[in-house]
Amino acid sequence: MTSIELVQGDITTQSVDAIVNAANSTLLGGGGVDGAIHRRGGPAILAECKQLRAGAYARGLPVGEAVATTAGDLDARWIIHTVGPVYSHNEDRSALLVSCYRESLRLATELGATTIAFPAISTGVYGWPMADGARRAVDTVRSTLPETSIAEVRFVLFDQRAYRAFETALE
Ligand code: ADP
Repeated sequence: MTSIELVQGDITTQSVDAIVNAANSTLLGGGGVDGAIHRRGGPAILAECKQLRAGAYARGLPVGEAVATTAGDLDARWIIHTVGPVYSHNEDRSALLVSCYRESLRLATELGATTIAFPAISTGVYGWPMADGARRAVDTVRSTLPETSIAEVRFVLFDQRAYRAFETALE
């Protein structure tokens, strides 16, 4: 049995195997979820991100892909960093947003995670409309879950507006 849960709150306080970070391509930190994860997770996460940049990801993490590091001081085993697309009015980038959720779940399964927390990827600084972002998140997770090891997916929504959008998408 798998379940999809909604929580309103801060993703850095969650106890799960894997916490997904709405990262940017540099992997070197930023605002929003990314800033909060590095702030509360401590320097070990950034140190591993820097190693990734020095190795396989010299040019950064491409949009729609996912990579894992330690979760540092957070109550999780891994941070799965994924880079959402910046919303565009004249180009359909939704396949990349879908890819973030799918690739994160695939990587979590590879790691052996059974619980995972997602933020509403791209809906902050990257400007994706919340209702559409929520619908794509829920649809992608629902359709991908049967191919994964995941028992619980928790969407952690920062404010009530995001929570309501995900609630509607789940109905
Ligand atoms: P992106 O650059 O992918 O848009 P952001 O981190 O700016 O990523 O925002 C993604 C979503 O996460 C937004 O809806 C934002 O309100 C929310 N958010 C910001 N901080 C946190 C947090 N600590 N925990 C959960 N969600 C957060």
